[in-house]
Amino acid sequence: MKVAYVNGRYVPHTGAVVHIEDRGFQFADAVYEVWAVLDGRLSDAEGHFTRLARSLGELSITPPRSRSALLAILREVVRRNAVKNGIVYLQITRGTAPRDHAFPHADTPPTVVVTAKSLDLAYLEASAAKGVAVVTRPDTRWGRCDIKTVGLLPNVLAKQSAKEAGAYEAWLVDKEGRVTEGASTNAWIVDAGGRLRTRDTAANILRGITRGELITLANELQMPVDERPFTVDEAKGAREAFLTAASAFLTPVVKIDEASIGDGRPGPVTLRLRALYLDHARRNAI
Ligand code: PLP
Repeated sequence: MKVAYVNGRYVPHTGAVVHIEDRGFQFADAVYEVWAVLDGRLSDAEGHFTRLARSLGELSITPPRSRSALLAILREVVRRNAVKNGIVYLQITRGTAPRDHAFPHADTPPTVVVTAKSLDLAYLEASAAKGVAVVTRPDTRWGRCDIKTVGLLPNVLAKQSAKEAGAYEAWLVDKEGRVTEGASTNAWIVDAGGRLRTRDTAANILRGITRGELITLANELQMPVDERPFTVDEAKGAREAFLTAASAFLTPVVKIDEASIGDGRPGPVTLRLRALYLDHARRNAI
């Protein structure tokens, strides 16, 4: 039976509910985190906890549990759902209070929800071996995409539009024609000059934990990463392209809109980095 954690209790997933006055439901007044689970353990754990603390801080939501208490809950949900490889999802809202835009009383306990699901690693491997298509769409999001909030409606619409176009992801494009990031992933290229490029974090993007880990790994390999914007045209003319996220690791992109990237197959730099990242993530999972 699938199990969720809701406000201190492990409950059957089918009957897991929060109140209609929950501020996550009313206002998207909530943050979330997602950890990849590899061999039953949480990958890039510290990075996700640190970003969670930052997201909560930016919204002035008091952390409802210590980091170690949260880790114990995340592990328990993974265990109870027998997830070997997959993801574990944590959402923290500002809690339940009569609907009013301004914050409720400071004593209002945040709502804490944790769920986990298995992912088919063989399927992810097969899809990485082929590469995926992305489409480009205007970035219509708010100005604080650095906070990992559940206010994801523009991301949802972009992802749906990608799906309807037969693509895996939508790469979002700012008013200057430069890629910011994907609807739920960070965007990368190996540019025409052979340099690894991804958007800088001064831009309005989420500071992906997978992105950050990969920058560290690439630097260790003497493969400098240019955190510098690239245009859609540069991406279409790139040698290679890929995307990163906890739920996708590092996935090759072989098509952007109608343009094939490189020879239309995952490139050597991408595949090498993917293998290195996965090895690193497995070794460091807790
Ligand atoms: N960008 C956006 C908008 C996302 O929603 C996500 C993940 O959910 C990412 C990037 C990738 O971040 P991470 O590597 O921390 O999963």
